[in-house]
Amino acid sequence: MRIGHGYDVHRFGAGRPLVLGGVHVPCDRGLVGHSDADVVAHALMDAILGALRAGDIGALFPDTDPAYAGVDSLVLMARVADLACERGWKVVDADCTIAAQAPKLAGYREAMRKNMARALGVSVESVGVKATTTERLGFVGREEGIAAWAVVLLDRA
Ligand code: MG
Repeated sequence: MRIGHGYDVHRFGAGRPLVLGGVHVPCDRGLVGHSDADVVAHALMDAILGALRAGDIGALFPDTDPAYAGVDSLVLMARVADLACERGWKVVDADCTIAAQAPKLAGYREAMRKNMARALGVSVESVGVKATTTERLGFVGREEGIAAWAVVLLDRA
């Protein structure tokens, strides 16, 4: 088996959609990035790539490549799952934590789980998503951006 860990941060910006785990969350601002800036999807992809010892999403999907401008991160996640499969691994379990002071995310957690499980080709039971604030501390607490962490367990396919 292999374990992997991923971490990502994106800053808030006006005039952007807020996409988390493939869910468009209603908000007066979104996250800035070359892709759709889906910070939790990015953390989970990096966890899988870490477990595969296959670099990171920055190397695989460079933000200098116009092909990835505004791209749906779940499309990229499906490619990461394909890469795991090609290398003889499957995702057994994953868990994600999102740190956001606002907006409240509890109501979107199940939809995020379903979306990311579908992208990975695994059961929704295999993908956990949790959200927390940071008690107004740090850049998350000042509502400057959102951070996400993910861990994943891979087994031989
Ligand atoms: Mg990112």
